[in-house]
Amino acid sequence: MKYYAIIVAGGKGNRMNQAVAKQFLELDGKPVLMHTLEAFHRCVLNPKIILVLNIHQHQYWEELCVSHGFTIPHQVIKGGTERFDSVKNGIKGLKGKGIVAVHDAVRPLVTSELIQRAYEMAAEKGNAITAIQPVDSVRIKKEGQDSEALNRNELYLIQTPQTFQLEQLKKAYRQPYRNEFTDDASVVERAGFSIYLLAGERNNMKITYPQDLEFASFLLNKKGF
Ligand code: C5P
Repeated sequence: MKYYAIIVAGGKGNRMNQAVAKQFLELDGKPVLMHTLEAFHRCVLNPKIILVLNIHQHQYWEELCVSHGFTIPHQVIKGGTERFDSVKNGIKGLKGKGIVAVHDAVRPLVTSELIQRAYEMAAEKGNAITAIQPVDSVRIKKEGQDSEALNRNELYLIQTPQTFQLEQLKKAYRQPYRNEFTDDASVVERAGFSIYLLAGERNNMKITYPQDLEFASFLLNKKGF
């Protein structure tokens, strides 16, 4: 069986208020993105790593790899307008049977054990979507000032990796883009496939706001990666 990892890093990341895209920000001495690639490289299933990056950042990334002595093998592909387009570019060159994990570049704390579990479950069921349950109470906004409580026991927060049999993912990504496609599970579900949830990890945070970097650094040191 062939295993692939598509790391999507095509976004501009404007919620960080930083000139540098968040996947390049330093986390304990090296860019966030290097931690992410290392997690996949550590996985015993030895996935082929495909990095989807905005075309204007390819040269910068090459320079970062040289200056950090980063030698993990990976292929760099150009990103698209939406995350949807970036994933589509990433899977374009893949053929035959295989299992593909799609992962946000900005989730550097994912463990190689979770990556492996997701590959194994997707091989068996067709897909594996990592998710955790909210610990906060949740309400949905109604008209005006109104809001209504939701039952948090029925809710899931979706993470990545989201892992699929290649044929399933390719079929799903032949659909035209829709606004509600914020992840791969929503694309695959819309194509008519059942979605299988896999217990994610609380530490598998998505670096989005400036304070997330400090917390990620704390977790990294605690784990001693
Ligand atoms: O948009 P959001 O913050 O949910 O992005 C999740 C991941 O998708 C990020 O790693 C981001 O770099 C990636 N992305 C992409 N191409 C885009 C937009 C986002 O690869 N056009």
